[in-house]
This record gives sequence, structure tokens and C-alpha cells, in this order.
Amino acid sequence: MRFDKLRLNGFKSFVDPTDLVIREGLTGVVGPNGCGKSNLLEALRWVMGENRPTAMRGEGMEDVIFAGTSRRSARAHAEVTLTLDNRDRLAPAGFNEHDHFDIVRRITRDAGSAYKINGNDVRARDVQMLFADASTGAHSPALVRQGQISELINAKPKNRRRILEEAAGISGLYQRRHEAELKLNGAEGNLTRVDDTLDQLS
Ligand code: ATP
Repeated sequence: MRFDKLRLNGFKSFVDPTDLVIREGLTGVVGPNGCGKSNLLEALRWVMGENRPTAMRGEGMEDVIFAGTSRRSARAHAEVTLTLDNRDRLAPAGFNEHDHFDIVRRITRDAGSAYKINGNDVRARDVQMLFADASTGAHSPALVRQGQISELINAKPKNRRRILEEAAGISGLYQRRHEAELKLNGAEGNLTRVDDTLDQLS
């Protein structure tokens, strides 16, 4: 499974539809300061399900929508499409019947984000799990932002362990364990309440 193309439309400085074609080998993006190089990496994280506005250098998620300039009015929505080439059939189970798939995330002012995989509505979690099971995703250490290397050097051992877990391909399991623990805590809370009610009745 490899990234084929990233399409941005109304995302940050990319007001007009723009395609970044990612060919085999190394892809370099060069340009003057402020031309949008980091915005491209953020678009990649965002379409993979990033849900922290701070990781997008914003205060709210709607800050990713083109905010307008003196010559162009602001847009009401932003959309990023990531096309994946799956001819090697390495996508996680459940997605492996497709040669290519398009993952779309769209955000509309006051209406939040919506996701699609190959035209079908899906939840943010479905997209996040797809990438987690493929050992990549919005939080993948393969995506290195400015300043991240020094953060890594100063990181606590627990945070560094996450990188090893990612490399071992168990991030998806980690996420599922976390969700199972939350459900277990909820069930334990319910049992305590039932015990209290039984005590009151007896
Ligand atoms: P550097 O080389 O300095 O790191 P860069 O090429 O990585 O720069 P970015 O940080 O990706 O550049 O882009 C910054 C540009 O994106 C700024 O001009 C900023 O005004 C613009 N920008 C960010 N968010 C929006 C938005 N919501 N609407 C319009 N423009 C935006």
C-alpha cells in the first residue's frame, strides 16, 4: 500500500484544487518560506484523522479552511483526498479487495468533519484504524514535523516506546485495548451502581 496522490481543495493556503502526485522513490517539495510546504504535510495528517487543532497549528479545526485574502474570499469548506495504491494487497483486512482507494475528509464551517472511503460514508475511527493497522497514520513517527527531532530526544521513555510499537505494527491493537479498557471501566461502574441498588432494596 503506498500513497499515490494528495488532493487539496480549500485547505489552508491551497484555495484552488491542487494535486500532489507522489511517485515511487523520493518526493521533495521545495519553495520559499511560507509557500505552504508544511501545510501539505498537515493535509496528509488531517485526512488520516488528526483531531487535534494544535497539530494543525490552529485553535479550532475550522482554521484549516481557507480564511481568505485581500483578493479572494474565505471558503465555507475544505476537502483533502488521499489516493492509495493497493495493488500490492497490503491494506488491512476489510479493505484489501480494492486496487486503489480514495479517502476523503471534508470540513464545513459549523458542521464539522465528514469522511468517505471510496464514496461511502465512514466514521473518523474507521479511517484512523485503517492507518493504525497499516502502521501509519496521523500520529505516525514517519511524519516528522519541524522541531520534532529535539522533542523526541527530550521525550520520556513511555513516549519513545510508542515509536517502537508503531514500528512493530501493533498501534491498532493498542488503540483497541484502550477502547476495551474504557468499556470495561464503564461496565464496572454499572455493576457498582447495581450493587448499590441491591443493597438499598435488601
Ligand atoms: P516555512 O518554510 O517557513 O516553514 P512553509 O512553506 O512550510 O514555510 P506553511 O507554514 O506550510 O509554509 O504555510 C504558511 C502559509 O499558509 C502562510 O502564508 C499562511 O498565511 C497560510 N495559511 C495557513 N492557514 C491558512 C488558512 N486557513 N487560510 C489561508 N492561508 C492560510
